[in-house]
Amino acid sequence: MSRYSIGVDLGGTNLRVAAVDESGQLIEKISTNTQVTHGRGAVLDEMCRIIQTLATRFNTRGPLAGVGIGVPGIIDMESGMLRESPNLPGWANYPVQQEIERRLGTSITLENDANAAAFGEHWLGAGQTVDSLCMLTLGTGVGGGIVLDNQIWHGMTGMAGEAGHINVEPDGHPCGCGSHGCIEQYASATAIKRIAKEAIDADHAPLLARAQHSDPEFSAKVIYNLAVQGDEPARKIFEDVGRRLGIVVAGLVNLLNLPMYVIGGGVSSSWDAFAPAMLRELKARSFVFAATNSDEHAKHKTIITRALLGTDAGLFGAARLPLVSIAREAVRR
Ligand SMILES: [Zn+2]
Repeated sequence: MSRYSIGVDLGGTNLRVAAVDESGQLIEKISTNTQVTHGRGAVLDEMCRIIQTLATRFNTRGPLAGVGIGVPGIIDMESGMLRESPNLPGWANYPVQQEIERRLGTSITLENDANAAAFGEHWLGAGQTVDSLCMLTLGTGVGGGIVLDNQIWHGMTGMAGEAGHINVEPDGHPCGCGSHGCIEQYASATAIKRIAKEAIDADHAPLLARAQHSDPEFSAKVIYNLAVQGDEPARKIFEDVGRRLGIVVAGLVNLLNLPMYVIGGGVSSSWDAFAPAMLRELKARSFVFAATNSDEHAKHKTIITRALLGTDAGLFGAARLPLVSIAREAVRR
């Protein structure tokens, strides 16, 4: 019987739990709205109830390898504490791992959600053919994750890979991390909406103003639709997203020299609106990229690509965590 595991993606607005077998086949997925306003205890109770439902439902299917949980924010891996989490108000310095383990009566693997997404893309998505990659997740914020030699790169305490807080504007827009001008403030869905609203307020964008008026949600998708229809202010917003992303990716390529950089998250569906500017900027700013991509027949090229798993990347990556930690223990024995 093949083993299976349970992965959890805890977001600021969605809680998703999936049972996945060790080959990466989805067995069942459950999504609910995260009622973060009800407090962390209520969210954890709901999460643990769903995990236990799935574990009971599939207990005849094979051994449960474990539970992996992706959470937004920076985690201290040693203590299992969530140190900072802008999307989960009231969770800072909360012993998340200990609280979940107490409720479930078993040990779990905790991971930053963007690290889990990078791990998921490496397992079943765009990065299946490479042993190392760096992924940027452009969603409500901008997350980053690095997989090195088939393992998540954690740094000293588990906080490595925070690419969303790389600076692209020294005196730029204030960021939730305490700095100013982080890429998160220019390339996230939240930032794209803010920048569009700034253009509307400055009276520079009549079609964007009309779209905002007729659609109270006024999502980044609406702005993207105007950009592809040729609306100049909307097009310029994505051009700027691309330029700034190109600056960040150029820095990452120069620093890491990995075979692949993956762009995921909701904003990556606007790829054709920002990618040309991103690639132009990358070529102009990274001599490592230029050196690895000058010959189209080169054996080792730097690949820049879109993610393939959509919003499931983090869920699959979380589910993979207990599967590989067991494999690693077996090797050690
Ligand atoms: Zn920041």
